[in-house]
Amino acid sequence: MTEASSFRDVIIIGGGPSGAAAGAVLAEHGHRVVILEREKFPRYHVGESLVPFAYEPLERLGLIPAMRASGFRKKHSITFIPPGGGQAQPFDFRSRYESGTLAASWQVRRADFDEMLLRNAARKGAEVREQCTVTGLIRNAHGVVTGVRLQTRDGIVEEISAPVTIDATGREAFSSLQLGWRVSDTQLHRVAVWSYFKGGTRHSGPDEGATTVAVLPAHGWFWHIPMQDDMVSVGVVAQGKYLTRDGCRDPELMLRREIESNPWIQNSLAGSRQVGVPRITADFSRHARFGAAPGLLMTGDAFAFMDPVFSTGLTLALKSGVMAGDAVHEALAGGDCSPGRFSAYTEGMRRNVENLRRLIHAFYMPGFSFQAFVDRFPEAAGAVMDCLAGDLDRDFSGLWNCLGQFVELPEPLPYGVPFIPRPA
Ligand SMILES: Cc1cc2nc3c(=O)[nH]c(=O)nc-3n(C[C@H](O)[C@H](O)[C@H](O)COP(=O)(O)OP(=O)(O)OC[C@H]3O[C@@H](n4cnc5c(N)ncnc54)[C@H](O)[C@@H]3O)c2cc1C
Repeated sequence: MTEASSFRDVIIIGGGPSGAAAGAVLAEHGHRVVILEREKFPRYHVGESLVPFAYEPLERLGLIPAMRASGFRKKHSITFIPPGGGQAQPFDFRSRYESGTLAASWQVRRADFDEMLLRNAARKGAEVREQCTVTGLIRNAHGVVTGVRLQTRDGIVEEISAPVTIDATGREAFSSLQLGWRVSDTQLHRVAVWSYFKGGTRHSGPDEGATTVAVLPAHGWFWHIPMQDDMVSVGVVAQGKYLTRDGCRDPELMLRREIESNPWIQNSLAGSRQVGVPRITADFSRHARFGAAPGLLMTGDAFAFMDPVFSTGLTLALKSGVMAGDAVHEALAGGDCSPGRFSAYTEGMRRNVENLRRLIHAFYMPGFSFQAFVDRFPEAAGAVMDCLAGDLDRDFSGLWNCLGQFVELPEPLPYGVPFIPRPA
């Protein structure tokens, strides 16, 4: 039985980075915004590595001082190790960007980082309700989303109405699932298995937090993300049929087997001990068919989740939260929240996603290496660095021109546009 109903200007489903960012921006604009989050924060989440262009949304959210004061490890570079070792390809952000802003980013423990973002939204005036699970979208006779139904931890069912609901539910993509709008990016289907280790070998000094991607022969890659407290996040991403070969179904055995067959990872973990159970996830890379619909807007992973090889998910989630917050504010201020009002937002997100998608496809092409590519097209090295730094909302036609001569690039996908119903 529904126990209560109420009204807000904006409802945000999900209090992860994109939801918290949108909530903070909307509260700052003076709107009554509620963030409904299923979990009690701090909560665990995978995805620890930020890229430099996270600086901009973090600055907008007023969080740079808190990031600087945190114990999060600074990350200045990402290095790609070819299969079997060989010449590494480092991309050092210090060689391209200004120190103190974009020359570095952070490796974050997500429980702490996400909590910082959510509390920041609350401090700015957003109403944050944890342990509230949204169980349904409420739609009127014309299909317009007019609010949500939720269940509290105590089993109380409530309804909240608002002219705009933002879906920030991450890879679960709650509303896309409800509306049948979740589409897989089948060419990028992968499985990830990961765990955490304490100890092992890492660089010292300013390079302590460098990310390494160790490429597997034709199958995928390892991430090695050195974090605070001597912890390191290590995971392998590959096709399911490769990781489960010989009937292997145990994530612990999958991870062990891959670590033992990769000399770089094995060396870096020598002397370390595993802390925590291995974790596994299978449903990789997918899109929301529509990024906006009457009464509804998608952000972060709920808009699109791309393979995490370049560590851009969090940065895109933060950016999209800020962009969506501003777009919804303008729509509310203009008294028109129809999906067409959000075209600039969805186009911006699609540009980010498509640029990233092209680079991911290139990375997975058999025999591709950044080293070989920039040796042949040195003029493209800066643009590659910009993509890896998360500066994805740009025209990269020069880069795609060069890359298209080197590997086959995918056609853009039509997903993420606003859904504009035909007039009856
Ligand atoms: C294996 C792996 C490795 C990754 N590595 C990286 C990396 O190194 N760097 C990087 O930048 N990104 C990485 N990512 C991606 C990154 O984690 C995501 O892009 C980021 O978390 C997206 O933020 P979000 O706010 O969109 O969603 P989330 O962070 O997933 O937050 C969504 C929130 O919504 C809540 N929620 C869901 N359903 C409901 C509901 N019905 N009611 C209420 N609340 C709900 C959830 O509890 C959650 O707190 C990785 C992802 C994977 C899978």
